[in-house]
Amino acid sequence: MSRNDLSNLYRQVIMDHYKNPKNKGLIEDTRYKTIHLNNPSCGDDIHVQALIEGEALKDIRHQGSGCSICCASASVMSETLKNHTLKEAKNTIKAFSKMLMNEPYGDVNLEEAVVFQGVSQFPARIKCATLSWKAIESLLDEHK
Ligand code: ZN
Repeated sequence: MSRNDLSNLYRQVIMDHYKNPKNKGLIEDTRYKTIHLNNPSCGDDIHVQALIEGEALKDIRHQGSGCSICCASASVMSETLKNHTLKEAKNTIKAFSKMLMNEPYGDVNLEEAVVFQGVSQFPARIKCATLSWKAIESLLDEHK
């Protein structure tokens, strides 16, 4: 597959998540921790919820408005990190942000999140792609 085909495929996956987001909509349940973050430079505004049980990230929900990169990234983030341990999730979040900074991220399996690789070429959009990941990271950090 050529580089161009690959970036078309990645764009397609991003648009699919934007149009049909996974795990969208907040849940009214006090066991869920919720955080609200925004990205004024683009107008992205998002709520992210996490259900943590023991050492496992059992569920992730998100709700918000923003550009296609931000909304699609929240959907991909929820699919990528759900049902992983907190430790795995933290490693994946770090690897995702390194990928966007064009830094090597070792052998971490980013699964579908690799589709955001190309965003690293657009510094103004990096915040869009990482907003929901920063949100879930804060929720994990708060959890002791
Ligand atoms: Zn944005």
